[in-house]
Amino acid sequence: MKIHNFSAGPCILPQEVFDKMAEAVLNFNNSGSSIMEISHRRADAQEVIDNAIQLVKDLMNVPDTHEVIFTQGGASLQFVMVPFNLMKLNGGKAAYTETGAWAKNAIKEAKRMGEVNVLASSADKNFNYIPKGFSIPSDVDYFHCTSNNTIFGTQMKSFPNSPVPLVCDMSSDIMSKPVDVSKFDVIYAGAQKNMGPAGSVVTIVKKDILGKTGRDIPNYLNYETHIAKGSAFNTWPVLAVYGVMLNLQWLKNLGGVPEIAKRNVAKAELMYGEIDRNGMFTGTAEKEDRSEMNATFVLKDESLKAEFDKMWKEAGISSLNGHRDVGGYRASMYNALPIESVQVLVDIMKEFETKFG
Ligand code: PMP
Repeated sequence: MKIHNFSAGPCILPQEVFDKMAEAVLNFNNSGSSIMEISHRRADAQEVIDNAIQLVKDLMNVPDTHEVIFTQGGASLQFVMVPFNLMKLNGGKAAYTETGAWAKNAIKEAKRMGEVNVLASSADKNFNYIPKGFSIPSDVDYFHCTSNNTIFGTQMKSFPNSPVPLVCDMSSDIMSKPVDVSKFDVIYAGAQKNMGPAGSVVTIVKKDILGKTGRDIPNYLNYETHIAKGSAFNTWPVLAVYGVMLNLQWLKNLGGVPEIAKRNVAKAELMYGEIDRNGMFTGTAEKEDRSEMNATFVLKDESLKAEFDKMWKEAGISSLNGHRDVGGYRASMYNALPIESVQVLVDIMKEFETKFG
C-alpha cells in the first residue's frame, strides 16, 4: 500500500532521491565504492558538496555578498552559532520574537551570551498566531525570527525591514516559496524538511557582518571557518549532503522554487479548505497566519478520536498526530508531498463527516 507521509520532519523526499541514494550506498557513481566508505576529501565527494552549495545559491538566488555553508549540529547548533558570531562580547544585545518552542530554544541559547530583548510573543495563545506591530530597536546586534513554526502551524507572510542584521530560522519552510535573500544577514535551516535527509544544516550568511564581535569563537562555531574551508573544515556527512544535492536537483528540474511555491499553495488551499468546510474539525492557527507547510487542526468532538485515527491509518496515512504541545493533528505538506496525498486525507475527512457527523 502507498504510504502518505505527513511527517513534520524528517519527512517525505522524492522517490528518485531514495533510489539514487540507495544506489550510491552500494556503488557510488560506478566507482566500485560505497558513498559511505569514501574520504570526504576525494574529488568525487568534493564535487557533491560543491554542487550542493551551488544548488542552494541557484535555487534561492543568493547574491555574491552572501556565502552558503553546510554544517552539522542541526538548527539547534545555529541557535548557538548565531549569537557567537553576531553578539558583541562587551554589552552584547539581541532582539528576538517568541513564536513557538523553537524560537524559545533560540532565545534560551542567546541569553547565555548576552542580553535578549523579546520584542513580541504569542505565548499568551499557545503560539497560534504571529505577533505583529512591534518595532525593532537599532541598538541591538541583530534581530532573530522564525519564519515557520513547525509545531504550532503558523508562518510569517512577510518580513520586517530591520535596522539591524536580520537573522531567520527557516528550518521548516526554506525553499517552499521565494524569499529575497538580500534582505537577510543570516538564514539557517536544518536539512530534514525541504532539503534532504537529516544530518546537515544550511546557513546563508552575509560575509561583511562577520568578525565584529570581539569574541574568541571556537573554530567549529565560527562561520568564517566554514566559509574559508568550503564547508569541508572537518569530516562532513557525505551521504547526507548527497541526499540534499539530489533533492535540490529534483527541485531545480521541476522548475525551482517558483514552481514548488505554486504547488504548495494548491496543497494548502485544498487542506485548509476542507478543515474550514468540514463540521468535525477546527483549525488551531489564526487564519491569516496559517502555515503552508504544517496545517494543525483538532476534532470538535474528542470522543471520536479512535474512529478518525482508524480511518486515516487504514488509508495509508502516516505521522498525522499533532505535537503534544497542540494535540489533535498536524498535516505537514513539505515540498516532496504530492497533492494526491492531501486529497487522500481530505477524502477521509469527508468520509468521517458522513459517517459520524
Ligand atoms: N527550528 C525549527 C523551526 C524546527 O522545526 C526545528 C526542528 N524541527 C528546529 C529548529 C530544530 O532543528 P534540529 O533538530 O535540526 O536541531
